[in-house]
Amino acid sequence: MSVQGKLTVYYGCMFAGKTSALIEYISKLGLRQNEFLVLKPSIDIRSGNRTITTHDGKSHECIIVENDTDINALVTPFIKVIAIDEAQFFDKVFFADVRRLLGKGIHVVAAGLDKDYLGRPFGLMPMLQTIATEKNHLKAVCNNCGKEAEYTYRKVDNKVLVLIGNTNHYEARCEACYSMKN
Ligand SMILES: [Zn+2]
Repeated sequence: MSVQGKLTVYYGCMFAGKTSALIEYISKLGLRQNEFLVLKPSIDIRSGNRTITTHDGKSHECIIVENDTDINALVTPFIKVIAIDEAQFFDKVFFADVRRLLGKGIHVVAAGLDKDYLGRPFGLMPMLQTIATEKNHLKAVCNNCGKEAEYTYRKVDNKVLVLIGNTNHYEARCEACYSMKN
């Protein structure tokens, strides 16, 4: 029998409810506080939110990590699940860490953007999708026509790849409305 941990992935565009889905998933597992970790990239300073609140009302600290943070050093023998939010901001080095965690039998749950605002594969997400045991494509509502949206459209003229923002900078669009580019 394989002892490889499960990898659950929630991917999609902005405003698709990825973080909520991640929190709901963890909540349903009914874990004790010391049995799971929530990791966030340091780049995501948007909310300044360093805790998540699970659906049974318990708040849990998020650990802010960099690509070169030694994740394995954070893992105690009690850890069963590691949740990663905004996973697109991590890179190949981090991918190796994820594989190592899975190899230890730890269940990894990751949420992130599959495509950047130019529609290109974004960071770690496509790699995680490739090896995922469970994939969930979440969709938003197109800001322009109300259909299902899979694209993140940048409303401002700024070519920086990582422009942290919310509705002031981005909106969700379906493929047709995204392609119109206006
Ligand atoms: Zn549309």
